[in-house]
Amino acid sequence: MTIMPNDRACPLCSSEQHKLLPRYSLQHWLIAACRSCAFVYLRNPVDYGQLMSEHAWEKSSKRERARRQRERPILNRISRATRFRFKLRKNRNKLLLDVFGPGSRVIDVGCGRGRLLPESIIPFGIEISPVLAETADNAMRERGGYCVHAPAIEGLGTLEAKTFDGVLLNSFLEHEIRPLPLLKEVFRVLQPNGRVYIRVPNFGSLNRKLLGARWCGFRYPDHVNYFTPASLKALCHRAGFQMLLVNRLNIHLDDNIKAVLNPL
Ligand SMILES: [Zn+2]
Repeated sequence: MTIMPNDRACPLCSSEQHKLLPRYSLQHWLIAACRSCAFVYLRNPVDYGQLMSEHAWEKSSKRERARRQRERPILNRISRATRFRFKLRKNRNKLLLDVFGPGSRVIDVGCGRGRLLPESIIPFGIEISPVLAETADNAMRERGGYCVHAPAIEGLGTLEAKTFDGVLLNSFLEHEIRPLPLLKEVFRVLQPNGRVYIRVPNFGSLNRKLLGARWCGFRYPDHVNYFTPASLKALCHRAGFQMLLVNRLNIHLDDNIKAVLNPL
């Protein structure tokens, strides 16, 4: 595995000035807070090309599932119960349909197998893993869309400007080494009245404060950005978006930030 030099600048404000956070820096992974804007991020992420060639995301998510099973066996069993999952999927479908509307053309960035967008949406995808991208492409073509096999920014770059109704960034932005250029590409491909739905781990959550490095949002080295509602809003604003929290009322208790973006 190729580790990049320990010199990643702040992805929000580009400042090089930082303070390391030893409490969250496990093994040789360096988590730091920007001294200028307080954004928390991984200083030494893994190289993109390496991720693609080793299918590291698929492997690491399997490893992560195993680790959680060991550490939190009871919670894990509950969360994997079929009925619970069914309810989650139903709620998510309803939410995505509310955000994007039926018949809309929506890009799922980091789409995996491409199963997330509800039936009545025309699905498009960008996926870095060749195996997952092929599976997604087959499924999406049957529904009028397709999947591009590429890293996210390059993949979005192949799409025509102002031609999509929506973009889904579900558990994606925490992985992106260059989140600001990514959001600017998202802005470019969206129609002026388009929408973005974002879901990322909530570094501002009570659980992170209580559990420290054992919080479920820490994944080394997959998660390279640790957003709070304020830092996510600031980043989105820089890319030209207004951000509205979906889970505003219970945001401190939620391990995830869920938000909708509209172009400013
Ligand atoms: Zn900063």
